[in-house]
Amino acid sequence: MTSSLIAREPSSARIKRFLERYRTHEAVDMNNVDYNDIEAILYEYFQRIDEMFFFKLLTREIQGVSKPRKLVAIKTHEVPDANILGLFDQNHDRIEIWLNRLRTFETYPLEHFICVLAHEMVHAYIGIFADERHDMHDEWVNDHCGHGTMFWKLLGYILDRLFELTGSERVWEQICEEESARRAFSRKPRCFLT
Ligand SMILES: [Zn+2]
Repeated sequence: MTSSLIAREPSSARIKRFLERYRTHEAVDMNNVDYNDIEAILYEYFQRIDEMFFFKLLTREIQGVSKPRKLVAIKTHEVPDANILGLFDQNHDRIEIWLNRLRTFETYPLEHFICVLAHEMVHAYIGIFADERHDMHDEWVNDHCGHGTMFWKLLGYILDRLFELTGSERVWEQICEEESARRAFSRKPRCFLT
């Protein structure tokens, strides 16, 4: 992480561009945005966060079965799920994100999507690139349904930098509150973001 773009060049044009785009999108009510446009916005932040923190590894092009594809894809869901906001499907190298709130069906705000994206991108990065044979793999990666110490270290770094840049830490508090409410609602403790 110390050699990522945001650490090396925090004042670079690409970081400034991220903030400009964020200032534009944070003022947008996602409920008034077409589904295809929300997908495009999500994909834009996927690429920008990848560039800023993951050396463009997740969005790099690789050879697929019949044609080139991005290393990690994104799939969105319009129908809410009671237990999940996002996941990384390691079998398909795919991040999945749920767009709408459970009862009201409102679309989540941009800051929420960025938090979920960052969370799932850390899962993707660790899932694809971590050494499973390492002695500490369970503690660093596998514990708590894949939320080991390495996971929180990376996610904490990313969110801290994004909060500093955008000044939006209150949104993460909201997400944590929702998570607690859902866990209390669900009899079986499950990963809220898997
Ligand atoms: Zn998770």
